[in-house]
Amino acid sequence: MTDFNNVDPSELSKFSDLAHRWWDKESEFKPLHDMNPLRLSWIEECTPLAGLKVLDVGCGGGILAEAMAAKASSVKGIDLATKSLKVAQLHALESGLKNVSYEEVSVESLAQREGGQYDVVTCMEMLEHVPDFASVVKSCSQLVKPGGHVYFSTINRSPKSFLFAILGAEYILNILPKGTHEYAKFIKPSELARAQRESGLQEIDIKGMGYNPLTKRFSLNQDVSVNYWVATQKI
Ligand code: SAH
Repeated sequence: MTDFNNVDPSELSKFSDLAHRWWDKESEFKPLHDMNPLRLSWIEECTPLAGLKVLDVGCGGGILAEAMAAKASSVKGIDLATKSLKVAQLHALESGLKNVSYEEVSVESLAQREGGQYDVVTCMEMLEHVPDFASVVKSCSQLVKPGGHVYFSTINRSPKSFLFAILGAEYILNILPKGTHEYAKFIKPSELARAQRESGLQEIDIKGMGYNPLTKRFSLNQDVSVNYWVATQKI
């Protein structure tokens, strides 16, 4: 598969247009900054990152990649939005992180080049933006070593997610720009589970992520009807 087969160009331009704001913690990317400590600690509970080689798929401006680089031996971030990657590279320089690198390459192409080379692969808030999420799941599985962990987070396709993730977040609370998410692209946990199974990934944990608009805090719970996170292990 070439780099641009499993891509929706309108999705990439949404993120490229906002690229200069990736590291503004009060911008459209505020939710990603706010949830970052929670996701880092959830990942580290299952996989302490010290000494490990990590790949972050759909890394954007590098919010999670940098946080993981502070713990891991090395982190590589990949994305197909050119401007976002430039921002990520500049920010890593500013942060003085020498063990994080970025590349504009599709996960499908990288899987052919660097299959089985990573201890951990993360793919957060990205699957709901691609035409064929199962292809991304399969490539993530090819990139991780046997026994290694792959983490996904995405949004369920349920009446509640329409209400909270689209109407609530984009139209009522305005914490995300209108048009950030398309309901039809949301993914049911059963659909993700099937793609994982077919790719040789065993599910080891699934959690729902809740948002309290009053305290503006994210927390993990058992309710997977809107945002959810999945930890898997390569068999
Ligand atoms: N994973 C990051 C950013 C999430 S935003 C985080 O959680 O902090 C979604 C990201 O997916 C954007 O950076 C967007 O450019 C990227 N993306 C969308 N389609 C993609 C594709 N086909 N291949 C790689 N990245 C893609």
